[in-house]
Amino acid sequence: MRLVLLGPPGSGKGTQATRLKEYLQVPHISTGDLLRAEVAAGSPLGLQAKEVMARGELVSDAILLGMLEDRFSRDDTRAGFILDGYPRNLAQADALGKLLEKLGQKFDSAVQLEVPTELLVERIAGRAAAEGRADDNPESVRKRLQVYTDQTAPVIEYYRQHGELTVVDGVGSLDEVFSRIVEAIAPEKVVG
Ligand code: ADP
Repeated sequence: MRLVLLGPPGSGKGTQATRLKEYLQVPHISTGDLLRAEVAAGSPLGLQAKEVMARGELVSDAILLGMLEDRFSRDDTRAGFILDGYPRNLAQADALGKLLEKLGQKFDSAVQLEVPTELLVERIAGRAAAEGRADDNPESVRKRLQVYTDQTAPVIEYYRQHGELTVVDGVGSLDEVFSRIVEAIAPEKVVG
């Protein structure tokens, strides 16, 4: 199964992707995690990305595509993947389509987690207290939500127009949201 998870910061993409990975037995590729690993390692790429991420802005499309090509060159992605945090703008959506075409891989679905903005702000504040991410400060959060509205929301329309969009209600317990996703993408896999 080849999936993209779409949703604003705080919509629960990362948490649901971790569960889906176990369930579908395919790797979870989080571009945020890949970038944070580069920052932690102090690599040249990490040094370039660090400030941009802390401000809540997008790291360059070229860096992201390079990272993604690298990740997709590993064998474990042949069985499928759950992509979380990419694409974040139309150019990235286009680049992903071309990459999969080049690799001869068929895309299954973009799953959009729908969550009202008030709830997002609340959830991110909770996560900031628990995890202490450098970009979970109020200013960066505002910026990330703005970037989402301006640049990432059009990606939803892109997948809708391609007939590849699955919309899932992201409000509820982790279990509830997980069940909704599974039912929407792989009803034959629902047990009980
Ligand atoms: P969240 O969705 O909670 O904001 P992520 O972990 O997905 O967090 O991303 C954190 C930051 O990493 C983003 O704000 C951005 O700076 C950078 N980033 C992640 N994915 C991308 C991407 N596809 N394109 C550009 N920048 C990205």
